[in-house]
Amino acid sequence: MTMHFTDRVTSVEPSATLAISALASELEAEGEDVVDLSVGEPDFPTPENVVEAAEASMEAGDTGYTTSKGIPELREAIARTLQGDGLEWEADNVIVTPGGKQALYEVIHALIQEGDEVVLLDPAWVSYEAMVTMAGGSLSRVDLSPYDFQLEPGLDDLADAVSDDTDLLIVNSPSNPTGAVYSEAALEGVRDLAVEHDFTVISDEIYKEITYGVEPTSLGTLEGMAERTVTVNGFSKAYSMTGWRLGYLAGPQELIEQAGKLHSHSVSCAVNFVQHAGVEALENTDDAVAEMVGAFEARRDLVADLLAEEGVDVAVPDGAFYMMLPTSEAPRASESGDEPRVDDQAWCEGALEDAHVATVPGSAFGTPGYARISYAASEERLREGIERLVGEGYL
Ligand code: PMP
Ligand code: GLU
Repeated sequence: MTMHFTDRVTSVEPSATLAISALASELEAEGEDVVDLSVGEPDFPTPENVVEAAEASMEAGDTGYTTSKGIPELREAIARTLQGDGLEWEADNVIVTPGGKQALYEVIHALIQEGDEVVLLDPAWVSYEAMVTMAGGSLSRVDLSPYDFQLEPGLDDLADAVSDDTDLLIVNSPSNPTGAVYSEAALEGVRDLAVEHDFTVISDEIYKEITYGVEPTSLGTLEGMAERTVTVNGFSKAYSMTGWRLGYLAGPQELIEQAGKLHSHSVSCAVNFVQHAGVEALENTDDAVAEMVGAFEARRDLVADLLAEEGVDVAVPDGAFYMMLPTSEAPRASESGDEPRVDDQAWCEGALEDAHVATVPGSAFGTPGYARISYAASEERLREGIERLVGEGYL
């Protein structure tokens, strides 16, 4: 029998970030020593008190379903966190999800249908495109690479890309894959366009806790934005909890009602004892988070210095744990005779095969000509990775 699959799923590729990481793991299983700078995953253990809170919760019998939107204690803790950032949401404006990814999926599917127009700021995280495509939306993409990935100088381009037909803009600051943190002035520019053309904005703030010397602005706090902003966040990055699958969305009541239907019919709820651990993560991890962010900052500086020594010019980011390397010098690119700036795929494949260093091609994020590295790895491995890339002629 031949199964017939929907255009919805056949029109998208699997997550490139997860696929490359799986390839790196396969090579490792074959006995190769791979420096995996592909997947965006903190390399620290989850803070001990969070683990203990989950254990205690499990022991206490928190193993059944919870209310679909999440346990009140966690929704209240999330509302307090959002209020601390200047957003005026209550617990009822929050849905707790198994990961930020699920939150994005629910919001996009609640807002976007066939023919709706969604704008991305490129390079943009891989799953936005796939989620919008699966919802039937059409994409319009604004390339921020000519502006060192900053949004403020790209506002005119964004103004050209949006219109009264625009339904949704997705903003991710600090950004995956660039690490850029958008200035308040840039976000005010976004606000002006969103209000003028009356569209909704998703503000994906999953890297908000991970910044270096700058204070990120939460888009929904800007005047005129509360009613049109859906704030998405998750516990994976700030608290090193990728495998726990915990995140949330917060927004106006009408959005919560509609997205809540998707939520209750798909995942029912996030894992009960994981939600209890989430309260501990929000309330008692300031020191652990500061320590991890300090380590990421030192690694960012190390990578930037090592690249500068090699004469590689990169935009040094203020947040997250990613950096975009230019791939125009890729040996394979020149060998194949292709336009070098579009051959980032060959660069990444070659870097994995020749140097055993795993990175993600910029084209997976809509921006050819770059490879993303995640510097959430030890200083020793980062040095090793860059040495190998230099040794094999990739830098
Ligand atoms: N948004 C961005 C920008 C991300 O990089 C990730 C990483 N996976 C997510 C959302 C979702 O993360 P998670 O589902 O682990 O919360
Ligand atoms: N967000 C991370 C990354 O970009 C994790 C993998 C994924 O979910 O795409 O590498």
